[in-house]
Amino acid sequence: MRSLYKNDAQLEKKLLNFIAIGPLVFIPFLVIVILFFAIRYNQFQLEQSVEEIKSSYINTQKNVVLSKVESAVKLIEYKRSMTKELLKEKVKTRVESAYAVAKNIYEQNKDSHDTKKIQKIIIDSLRPLLWNRSEGFIFILDLDGIFYLAPDYLRHLEGKSIIDFQDATGRYVIREEIALVKTQGEGYLWDTFTRPGYSPDIQFEQLAYVKKFGAFNWYFGSSEYMNSMTKEMEKEAVNLLRSLSSENSSYFFIMNDAGDIIMHGQDASLEGKNALSLRDTDGKELLHNAKRNTPSFVEYRWKNPKTKKIEYKNTIVEKVPNSDWIVGSGFYMDELETIIASKKTELYETNRANYEKIIYISIALLLISFLLSYKISKMLRRKLSSYATTVEAKNSELTELNQSLEKKVYERTQELHDAYKKMKQLAITDTLTGIYNRYHFNTALEKEIYRAHRYERSFALLMFDLDHFKKVNDSYGHAVGDTVLIRTCNLVAACLRESDIFARVGGEEFMIILPETQEDVALEIAERIRKSVETHSFVPIKQVTISIGLVRNRPDEDLEKLLNRVDSALYAAKNSGRNRVSLGA
Ligand code: GH3
Ligand code: MG
Ligand code: MG
Repeated sequence: MRSLYKNDAQLEKKLLNFIAIGPLVFIPFLVIVILFFAIRYNQFQLEQSVEEIKSSYINTQKNVVLSKVESAVKLIEYKRSMTKELLKEKVKTRVESAYAVAKNIYEQNKDSHDTKKIQKIIIDSLRPLLWNRSEGFIFILDLDGIFYLAPDYLRHLEGKSIIDFQDATGRYVIREEIALVKTQGEGYLWDTFTRPGYSPDIQFEQLAYVKKFGAFNWYFGSSEYMNSMTKEMEKEAVNLLRSLSSENSSYFFIMNDAGDIIMHGQDASLEGKNALSLRDTDGKELLHNAKRNTPSFVEYRWKNPKTKKIEYKNTIVEKVPNSDWIVGSGFYMDELETIIASKKTELYETNRANYEKIIYISIALLLISFLLSYKISKMLRRKLSSYATTVEAKNSELTELNQSLEKKVYERTQELHDAYKKMKQLAITDTLTGIYNRYHFNTALEKEIYRAHRYERSFALLMFDLDHFKKVNDSYGHAVGDTVLIRTCNLVAACLRESDIFARVGGEEFMIILPETQEDVALEIAERIRKSVETHSFVPIKQVTISIGLVRNRPDEDLEKLLNRVDSALYAAKNSGRNRVSLGA
């Protein structure tokens, strides 16, 4: 009981401690687990976003560079077209003015001068008209290809037919011009032609405008060399792209079909060098796709002039249509590294803030739960101790109750025992006289017979009856009779030993067992009894006497035979005059 209580107390203490301290262990553990997963998740996110940044950066940069290069190509194309328009305008205006001058001269002189004279005036007035440092001029041919007005460097051809002149591509340019003016009166023509100041073996691209002058079967023409206009335009484009290169992080470069670098916005030292033979640090050919008509990217490793480090770089090249120009641009990945690094720091910062938040929340949670569990455990402790007090009080109450119950049970048992004893006594006692009754006598006699038989002992049995007792009752009443019976018993009992058994077996008939008593002693006792009654004064009765039958036990004699014998002995005593002792046979 005690050890059980001790175990209970230990258990209770453990439970309270667990409630109080449990959260201190459990919550930090939880926080560590949450942090672990949060960090893992963040790392995963970081890796993912770095990948995303990388691919999106590359895509964006590619798109930016692509659109830049496309814009540059468009710009160059536009400039070229503008150049052509300008050229067209120039040559046409020139021819129209010459035509107007010639027409005017013709109109004024047709009636006064002959054809040859008018032709000479016209030729002489138009010859001095020169443009573009003598590169631009008016020429006049007739429809048979005869040169009437030739530029200075071809003056020796005047008056001769150049109808069979072929340009660099083999075209019969003069024939084409004649055909054009014959059919359409006037028009443009692209061709190649020799040029003043250059060898007659070299031809240059030029734009010619020709117009028929019907009066003499002539046609007027003027041309502009594409080259000079284009050079100017190209210079402008180069300058523009160079300035755009310096303004932006990415750059442009321009090269021709042969791979000669015309302009390089990032590394001017490359200008004039040939790019087609360039290989990167891994030996990879760089611009093998450069001449294709569609823009193409190439990724390779190259020394970044800004960082002086070998880095991955992306370059795009696009051919300018109908020209020998290739425009390109590129970007290094160093910016990507910087962007990724800054994004990483940004993410780390955010994550750090998140971790801090988690930790602060956890600490707050920890404190709150610790406080709460401390309060709860305190409350429980108080409650438990109050329970313990109550239980203890109830326990002692119960113990008291138990004790009083035990006492009561004991008392009750005692009472019952006493009652039983009394009952037992009553069961064997004669109510009137207080000596043993017939029932007990029979039991005692049976025991005595058995004992005598077993141990070969001897005992004596006495039976006595009051003489003429009827008369006592009749004379003095039943109550006096009873008193006589009681007094007689007292007198007899006084003559007996402790071990003798004295019982009332009938109304006024009694038996006495005298254990371990020889016949002579028994006779003495019987006589003493008889005398004691005879001599006693039973006022108001004169005298009371008794008759006694006495027998000695016999071996192998049963109860019935013994009783018969003692009854016979008593009978004998009565019959022989009463107030005497009769020894049975
Ligand atoms: P005897 O000498 O032959 O014995 O004559 P007796 O008158 O005694 O005759 P008996 O023994 O037959 O009579 C018994 C009488 O004893 C009958 C009855 O009135 C009386 N008696 C028996 N029991 C009691 C008793 O308990 N109280 C009183 N007062 N009288 C009793
Ligand atoms: Mg009798
Ligand atoms: Mg009698």
